[in-house]
Amino acid sequence: MTEQDLSGRVALVTGGSRGIGRAICRRLAQAGAWVAVNHSSSDEAAAETLAEIRADGGEGGVWRADVSSFAATDAMFGSIEAERGPVDLLVTNAGIASFQDDVDMPVDLWRRILAVNLDGTFHCVWRAKEGMRAGGDGRIVCISSINGLAPTTMRPDRLIAYGTSKSAIIGFARNCAVAFGPAIRVNCVAPGLVDTDMTRDMSEEMRQRIVAGTPAGRTGTPEDIAALTHFLLSDAAGFITGQTYVASGGLVTLP
Ligand code: NAD
Repeated sequence: MTEQDLSGRVALVTGGSRGIGRAICRRLAQAGAWVAVNHSSSDEAAAETLAEIRADGGEGGVWRADVSSFAATDAMFGSIEAERGPVDLLVTNAGIASFQDDVDMPVDLWRRILAVNLDGTFHCVWRAKEGMRAGGDGRIVCISSINGLAPTTMRPDRLIAYGTSKSAIIGFARNCAVAFGPAIRVNCVAPGLVDTDMTRDMSEEMRQRIVAGTPAGRTGTPEDIAALTHFLLSDAAGFITGQTYVASGGLVTLP
């Protein structure tokens, strides 16, 4: 068994139907975890994630639930527990960004972004923590963003609510790491620009400007983020908790 083997583990990845979440689902299943694929809107896309897991020889299931609702999150956990037992690997990846200017955003847009990104993270961690504390070896990765570390000057009009939600996720994860150790490790991953449906509307000119400022000379792939997430969930990261890891090709560096 290698230090990154996840056999016997029950993983839940929120927002697993596409993009970064799908790549994380695949990666964890390849490492031996049984993977619950959560999504909120596309049964077809989630079924594709599960089909890819199975094509790789892995196992899992699909759960549709809007994580901004605690009732829906609670019901999802109850159903996973009934089928496989407690979730001991959690990736809070579900997230939305604004596709209109935030400068004059309606109050409802602020509320929706915070509800999905921040409350959704909280609901999942809160529902997972009792089982993880009882089991004594829970591991959580919260997906933040470089926009949670520093406001962008490239898209200053768009990311007030999103950037705030992603900063708050980092603060939440740090506090949980202290409160729930040693039974649970909690870390954050802060991706830079990754090519997914979420970033599809970005202009080519903007993309080129970002790449020009990125030492790695490219945008990220969902697999880049999945590899780091897998590491943080594995035994190899056993002494790491309360941290935020940036995967941005060097666009943003921590002090
Ligand atoms: P995406 O839009 O391709 O996928 C988002 C996933 O979240 C989908 O599976 C969707 O069904 C799910 N989702 C949305 N709202 C939900 C809800 N209320 N309940 C449950 N599931 C919900 O996005 P992506 O680019 O793969 O991003 C994944 C995560 O990574 C997000 O948290 C995003 O903020 C973060 N991120 C992305 C980038 C990037 O450049 N793509 C950069 C930094 C951080």
